Amino acid sequence: MERYYQPEIECASREQIKAWQDERLVKQVQHVWEHMPYYRKKMEAKGLTPADIKGTEDLYKLPFLSKADLREAYPYGLLAKPLKDCVRIQSTSGTTGKRVVAFYTQHDIDLWEDCCARAIVAAGGTDEDVCQVSYGYGLFTGGPGLNGGSHKVGCLTIPTSSGNTERQIMFIRDLNATILCCTPSYAAYLGETMKEMGLTPDQIPLKAGIFGAEAWSEEMRQDIQNTLGIKAYDIYGLTELSGPGVSFECSAQSGMHINEDHFIAEIIDPDTGEVLPEGAQGELVFTSITKEAFPLLRYRTRDICSLSREKCSCGRTHVKMVKPKGRTDDMLIIRGVNVFPSQIETVLLNHGYPANYQIIVDRVKSTDTLDVQVEMTPEMFTDNLGEVSRRQTELVEGLRSMLGLAAKVTLVAPKSIVRSEGKAVRVIDRRKI
Ligand SMILES: [Zn+2]
Repeated sequence: MERYYQPEIECASREQIKAWQDERLVKQVQHVWEHMPYYRKKMEAKGLTPADIKGTEDLYKLPFLSKADLREAYPYGLLAKPLKDCVRIQSTSGTTGKRVVAFYTQHDIDLWEDCCARAIVAAGGTDEDVCQVSYGYGLFTGGPGLNGGSHKVGCLTIPTSSGNTERQIMFIRDLNATILCCTPSYAAYLGETMKEMGLTPDQIPLKAGIFGAEAWSEEMRQDIQNTLGIKAYDIYGLTELSGPGVSFECSAQSGMHINEDHFIAEIIDPDTGEVLPEGAQGELVFTSITKEAFPLLRYRTRDICSLSREKCSCGRTHVKMVKPKGRTDDMLIIRGVNVFPSQIETVLLNHGYPANYQIIVDRVKSTDTLDVQVEMTPEMFTDNLGEVSRRQTELVEGLRSMLGLAAKVTLVAPKSIVRSEGKAVRVIDRRKI
C-alpha cells in the first residue's frame, strides 16, 4: 500500500496542478517585480511587466537567472522580503568565488520541510521509524532539510550529522535506525565498514535510505542496496531552491517526482536557451512559485536530464525527472569528447569494482589525459602482476566502449583512496587552460 504525506497534493489531477502553477506564478512574478529590483531590471530589459505573464504558457518569456547572477547579487540582491521577516540562511558548499546565500522565512522553511517529509513517506517512512540523518548539519541544506522532514513525519530523529563512522554504526545498531539519510558515497562507505565488521545485511536494522547531494549511478544503487539490505531512494535539490526535496523517488525507483505545487520545471537547450519539447534531454530550469524570501524565477541548474509525465505506478501525478547525468560543470571535455564521471562509475561497478575511484585529468604536451584510479576489492587484491595487468586492460576496453576514448586505468590497493563523509571528490582536473 503506497502511502503519501500530502495525498491531496501529491496525487492531484494534472488540471489541478496546472491551476495551482498558473495562479502562483502570476502572484510570484508580481512579488518579485515589486521586491527584487535585480530581477525587475532584467524584466524591463526584455520589455516585460507582470501583466505579460498570465500563466505557465508565458513562462518562457521571463529572463533566466544563473549562478553568475547569484554571485553578482550576493548577499542581498535576490532577497524579496525584509530581513526582519527572515529566520534562517543556508549556503552552498562552493569552493570557488562567493558562496550562494539563500534566505528563508518561517513559511519557506515549513514548505521545504513538507517536501522532505513527502520524500521520507515515499521511502516508506512512518512515525514508527527511526531516521538517522547523517548529512552534514549547518550551512549545508542536507542535514537541516531531512531533519525537519523527519520531525514532520514523526520519526524518531537521530541528528548524527556526518562523520565519526564508528558512532554512526553504533547508533544504527543500538537505536535500531530504520532509515538512513546521507550522501550515496557515504552510504557506500558505511556499508563497506559494516561488511568489514562482519555484519551481514540481516544484522543491520536499516530498511531504507534517502541519498542525494551528488550524482550516483544505478550500479552504485544496487551495490548499496545489497550491502546494507535496504531500498535506496534518490532525492534531489539545490540550496538555491530550498535544499533537498525539490524532487524525490517513490517505490517505482525510476525517476524523481518534482514537487510541482512549489516548483515549475522546464528543460532548455543549454546553448540557445530555447525550451525543449517534453521528453527531450537538456538543462533543467526551475521556477520557485511559493518561496517568499528567495524566490528564483527560471533558475538554470546546469543539471542535464529529461522529464516524463508517464503515469507512475505509485499513484503520484507530479512530473518525474530522470536522474541527472551530472551537472554541466561536472562534465569533463576530454579531447573534445563529453565525459560524465557517472559514466565511468557505471563501467567500474559493472566490472565488480567498489565505488572508490578517482578521475585524474591532465594535459601533457597539449593532449588531454584521463587516468582512472580504482581500488581493488580485498578479494581481487594480488601481487600477480599479470593478473593486475589483465584486469587493467579489461577496464580500459570497458571505458573505451562507454566513452569512445582511451583512458589509462591504474588499479590501487584496497583502502588507498581517501573516503569522504560528505560529497566525494571524484575528479581532479590538473589542466591549466
Ligand atoms: Zn511514483
